[in-house]
Amino acid sequence: MNQLNETFNQHIEIEDDRTGLSIPTLRRAIADNLFYVQGKFPSIATENDYYMALAYTVRDRLLQRWLASSNSYIENKTRMVCYLSAEFLLGPHLGNNLINLGIYDQIHRAVEELGLNLDILIAQEEEPGLGNGGLGRLAACYMDSLATLEIPAIGYGIRYEFGIFDQEIRDGWQVEITDKWLRYGNPWEICRPEITYEVKLGGYIDHYTDHNGNYRSYWHPDLVVKGVAYDTPILGYQVTNANTLRLWKSEAPESFDFQAFNVGNYYGAVDKKIVCENISKVLYPNDEQFEGKQLRLEQQYFFVSCSLQDMITLHLLYGGKIETFHEKFVAQLNDTHPSIGVAELMRLLIDDHKLNWEKAWKITTHTFAYTNHTLLPEALETWGLDLFAKVLPRHLEIIYEINRRFLEEVALKFPNNQGIINSLSLIGEGDRKVVRMANLACVGSFAINGVAALHSQLLTETVLHDWYQLSPQKFSNKTNGVTPRRWIVLSNPRLTNLISLKIGTHWIKNLDELRKLEEFINDDIFCKSWRQVKTDIKKDLAQKVKQQQKIILNPESLFDIQVKRIHEYKRQHLNVLHIITLYNRLKKNPKLDIVPRTFIFGGKAAPGYFMAKLIIKLINSVGEVVNNDPDIHDRLKVVFIPDYNVTNSQRIYPAADLSEQISTAGKEASGTGNMKFSMNGALTIGTLDGANVEIRVCVGEENFFLFGLTTPEVAQIKNNGYNPWHYYQNNASLKEVIDQIASGYFSHGDYNLFKPFVDSLLYDDQYLLLADYQSYIDCQDRVAEVYRNKEHWAKMSILNVARIGKFSSDRSIRDYCKDIWKVHPHPVELIDLCPDGQCRLRN
Ligand SMILES: *Cc1c(COP(=O)(O)O)cnc(C)c1O
Repeated sequence: MNQLNETFNQHIEIEDDRTGLSIPTLRRAIADNLFYVQGKFPSIATENDYYMALAYTVRDRLLQRWLASSNSYIENKTRMVCYLSAEFLLGPHLGNNLINLGIYDQIHRAVEELGLNLDILIAQEEEPGLGNGGLGRLAACYMDSLATLEIPAIGYGIRYEFGIFDQEIRDGWQVEITDKWLRYGNPWEICRPEITYEVKLGGYIDHYTDHNGNYRSYWHPDLVVKGVAYDTPILGYQVTNANTLRLWKSEAPESFDFQAFNVGNYYGAVDKKIVCENISKVLYPNDEQFEGKQLRLEQQYFFVSCSLQDMITLHLLYGGKIETFHEKFVAQLNDTHPSIGVAELMRLLIDDHKLNWEKAWKITTHTFAYTNHTLLPEALETWGLDLFAKVLPRHLEIIYEINRRFLEEVALKFPNNQGIINSLSLIGEGDRKVVRMANLACVGSFAINGVAALHSQLLTETVLHDWYQLSPQKFSNKTNGVTPRRWIVLSNPRLTNLISLKIGTHWIKNLDELRKLEEFINDDIFCKSWRQVKTDIKKDLAQKVKQQQKIILNPESLFDIQVKRIHEYKRQHLNVLHIITLYNRLKKNPKLDIVPRTFIFGGKAAPGYFMAKLIIKLINSVGEVVNNDPDIHDRLKVVFIPDYNVTNSQRIYPAADLSEQISTAGKEASGTGNMKFSMNGALTIGTLDGANVEIRVCVGEENFFLFGLTTPEVAQIKNNGYNPWHYYQNNASLKEVIDQIASGYFSHGDYNLFKPFVDSLLYDDQYLLLADYQSYIDCQDRVAEVYRNKEHWAKMSILNVARIGKFSSDRSIRDYCKDIWKVHPHPVELIDLCPDGQCRLRN
């Protein structure tokens, strides 16, 4: 108490309520915000009121750093990375900001002294679910690493009013609920009503010759919408740098308000207002599945146009010349979703800034870099020409002109090669003419990368082979990573403390330092603590599952977890075939000594993806039978945790013993869930797919459970005419499992329910489940045998963590900075706002 008073007295002169970091100041600031921002007395304040008061307390501290950063970037005219992404799957901000500010413990105390519980307050936050899965989460991890590495950067995206739907499970089926994340307000964003841009849509183009004799185009749009900037500060870990995430909300331009009164068609004008607001209304919930909807194209164009206009405005405002735009900004395209930017920057430079084609093309092709995220053909973005012409008539003209000039060059380089011209063309000429967005991204970018070594290699061999022939120097690999701040420090405080006790805390910023843990591999006390930590976390999760689903889990059992979007290529149903196989073994031989397992699933299915939804139903149906069969004696449990999102995932990854990364080889571009599991001490059972390949090399092949066909073997089997029946008829336990599903065993005798599922396996099996079945079962049997030796398992777990350093998103971002972006750290110094209203650098 005495010491506390001393800190209090020490700080009271220099600390103000908006920037001070001592416990008494923080406590006072929270109470102050409750009163003056939330407008509540403590006696009637709800937990959410206290959450908001705390969030504003933290935001004040962020703002100080954020303003210092923006100010410093502008004054020093630093080169900026602009990360263009239709998705940012951020997860809740509060806990993360406390960690990055380094005041988690102080806030914990301050909140406690106010008679509150920090965990409960943190749980109040509705996460911004502005993404579907891995791609959106990657953007969020990269924002954390950019700030932590002190790289000047802006993230640009869409402020969806409704993010990814909330998932409920009713009678075993997925039900989608609207995500009203803005319902109670969002304390982390700052609206910038003065930062707006107009975006044109539809209409037609006039061509004319201007007074200098130049050929010009004028776009008469059908509709003009306004983008309004909403900024969220993204603070780095234990640095002053805070970058901006700028998300655009669509609104009607002010002119509509006049129209409404003047044209005598008030309701008609209001209708148009609603059309404008619809653009940023809702996130499309498809993961790795293209949906050619007009509104989606409008969303993409809307946010890219606002972002490029904003970049140009910033550049000119601070004295830059339009000709040097690309020296000031590099724009990373997170998949093809923002690739319309190539045509849009050309339009802005030529039509608005009056540059000639050659200059505009040089700037454009020195601005963009493109990250490819998938090889799945159904994910490729190709817009029907009619739709494209209707929404973006001027861009279609520009794309034709880019294409004309480009194909001329190609023809010179590859004479008499119509094949390569057809494949590189920006226009696909099948029975349906389309604009190919991947080709637009490739032609307009100076760099093209895949997201894991295998994926980048397959890109150059398959979908982008001809682009690689044309410009091999553009290609590189940038293996994905995840931020250890959220995925270890925040989500796994127990493991964080154990690690830091042994090797200090530098690993949080330099994840390769985890290697020092290898020294303790034979330290029995350490290994025992390691196991204890895992068991404690499993107990926490079991507690949560009991509360929410009334299912009792055994924390001593092997927690075998598969959480990710539900997709046939990810093969959750292969996991189900294994569960039923074990179930059948126990049914035949109830006394069989097996390693008890808890199978945990989680993940959302795209609402229109029938088979994915049926797989959710199958998991729940199998769970109902297995969990309630007295012969099983609780040795197997199957749970589907509803509403898999960042918040829930932070509880799930740390609790895993076994991480399921079992996609068909060649289908998963990278995966990042695989990295989060391994970082938290889970062992992986996986195929040679995506980043699994590199994870296995890093952790050591003896610490990784490998099974299944390789990518070339998959290709070979398909070439030879794959026949799933062959596997079905020659494998008794596989046949039994499939026959059981088909018979209605798991569906109360309803043999129609899973018929589409069974038929798809027996007559198609695109993803080769039957071909990989036995290899998977054998591998799972090895997993169980190893798990029997808990000491050995713990050592393998420690080695996984010790050797996972490469998969920090800090490493990924350093690679991008060095090889593609050519940007350097720009450390920011703290600015104090002094009582006289002046800003000064802190000395
Ligand atoms: C990491 C993450 C993903 C990606 O998982 P994969 O296993 O790589 O598909 C998806 N959703 C959430 C919420 C995540 O945190």
